Amino acid sequence: MTTISANLQRLHQRIGAACARVGRDPAGVHLLAVSKTFPAEAVQEAWAAGQRAFGENYVQEGVDKIRVLRERGLAGLEWHCIGPLQSNKTRVVAEHFDWVHSIDRLKIAQRLSEQRPLGLPPLSLCLQVNLDGGANKAGVSAAELPALAQAVDGLPGVRLRGLMCIPEPAPDFEAACAVFGQARQCFERLCEAGHALDTLSMGMSADLEAAVVSGSTLVRVGSAIFGARSYPTA
Ligand SMILES: *Cc1c(COP(=O)(O)O)cnc(C)c1O
Repeated sequence: MTTISANLQRLHQRIGAACARVGRDPAGVHLLAVSKTFPAEAVQEAWAAGQRAFGENYVQEGVDKIRVLRERGLAGLEWHCIGPLQSNKTRVVAEHFDWVHSIDRLKIAQRLSEQRPLGLPPLSLCLQVNLDGGANKAGVSAAELPALAQAVDGLPGVRLRGLMCIPEPAPDFEAACAVFGQARQCFERLCEAGHALDTLSMGMSADLEAAVVSGSTLVRVGSAIFGARSYPTA
C-alpha cells in the first residue's frame, strides 16, 4: 500500500471514531483531499485509492492539475476551490471547478453565476464565515450571513450548499468545539430561514475530530494525506 492510500485509510478511521463519539453516521462526513502544492501524480495516487473530491487554493495551480488529469481520463473527479477568490479569476473557476467554498462577497457569486457555462450543472457554493472576528481575515461575520445567503440563493448559475469556516487553532478540544459549534448554529439558522443547505465545511488535519463532533459534513484535509507542504500557504 502507498503512503497516500494508508493515510486515507487512517483518515477514514479518524472520521469514523469521531462520528462514533456522538452517534453520527460516517456516511454524513465527506473527505475533501486538499492537494495544493502537490503534483497531479499525488492526486492520481489518491484517486487510485478511491478518493474523488479534491481541494485547491490557488486557481492557476488547480486549473493546471484539472486539465492534466482530464486528459488522463480519470473518472469521477470533483474539484473544490477553497482559497480566496478575486474577480479576475472567477471565469476560469466557473469553467473548471465544481465547488467554491470561500464566498464572502455577493459580487464574486454573481460573476460565478453569470460565467458558469450553460452545459454544466450549477456551481456549488459555500459562504465563508469568520467567527473569530479577525478584521484581516476572509469571511463574513455571523451578522452579515443572512443577507448574503438570501442574495446568493437566488442566482441561477450557482447553488448555495452551506457554510465554510477556518477558525484560528484553538488551545484545546473544548475551545475548538465551541467555535465549530457557532458555525453550526449559523448553519441551522439559515436552514430555519428556508435555505436548503446540506454542507458544513469545517475541520482540517489537526482539528477534524472537534469539527466532526460539532456537526461538520465535509472535512478539508491536506497534510495528513499528502504530507508536509514545501511552501507556505495562506
Ligand atoms: C490548506 C488548507 C486546508 C488543509 O490544511 P491541512 O492542515 O494541511 O489539513 C484546509 N482548508 C483550507 C482552506 C486550506 O487552505
